[in-house]
Amino acid sequence: MRKETDKLRSQKKSIGFVPTMGCLHEGHFSLVRRSKQENDVTVLSIFVNPTQFGLGEDFAKYPRDKKNDVLLAIKNGVDIIFYPSVKKMYPERYLTYITVEKLSDGLCGARRPTHFRGVTTIVGKLLNIISPQRMYLGQKDAQQVAILKQMIYDLHIPVKVLVGATIRETDGLALSSRNKYLSPQERVDSPLVFQALCMAKEAIRRGQRKPTVIQEIIKTHIKKSKLARIDYVECVDATTLLPVKHIHQTVLIAVAVFFGKARLIDNIVIDAK
Ligand code: AMP
Repeated sequence: MRKETDKLRSQKKSIGFVPTMGCLHEGHFSLVRRSKQENDVTVLSIFVNPTQFGLGEDFAKYPRDKKNDVLLAIKNGVDIIFYPSVKKMYPERYLTYITVEKLSDGLCGARRPTHFRGVTTIVGKLLNIISPQRMYLGQKDAQQVAILKQMIYDLHIPVKVLVGATIRETDGLALSSRNKYLSPQERVDSPLVFQALCMAKEAIRRGQRKPTVIQEIIKTHIKKSKLARIDYVECVDATTLLPVKHIHQTVLIAVAVFFGKARLIDNIVIDAK
């Protein structure tokens, strides 16, 4: 990978980078398309990163389909697929991790305590190897975006982060590799999550400013499915990710909901000003 990117740099070609865990879908390809518009070469990495999965989480079961991913990546115009092995990325005696404090504490970080340490470590390593000018991330993982931007700023990594909108099924469900875990009935119920976020947005538009009321609106709607188990519904400042007591700024409303084995996350950013 280094040889390739060194060559590209010597030819003064710009590199756009899309990190993924594979099982590729339109959410990933929307980022690829944007990268292709803005760079000479687009690199897509596929790596199911063990260090971002906690004990008892779905690392072993996470969907992997290398053959199909490679076909789809080529079809969507990816120039280079970087597909390293776990052994290469984490050899024996591996000891170094990157931690972004504070931003990793709440939301998903509170429920998955080692998750973001794994994300920042692997993305830091991938950026070192690939040295892209631009990296493309999805808004669906809003906390991940905030943490990675902070890491890049703090560690002086010379890369620009571009954030793509969340791509959804026609009924509103955010695309995710983990949607494969949904049973037919869970899939039918799953659009409740985005519907609930839209109801929250409408309530704020009509003047509601109390996070507790917004949270209740969301919870009540999602609980219409007997199959849903809410992990969290939070209303936080979009920059600090700290909970707000009164909605008067740009807020991130983020939710995580279990449907059976699938833990779905989604969010919406609302400018209350
Ligand atoms: P993943 O393979 O799930 O780790 O995701 C790789 C990248 O794709 C991350 O930057 C995600 O935020 C982004 N992504 C995943 N799902 C979507 C989606 N539905 N819309 C936009 N971006 C997405």
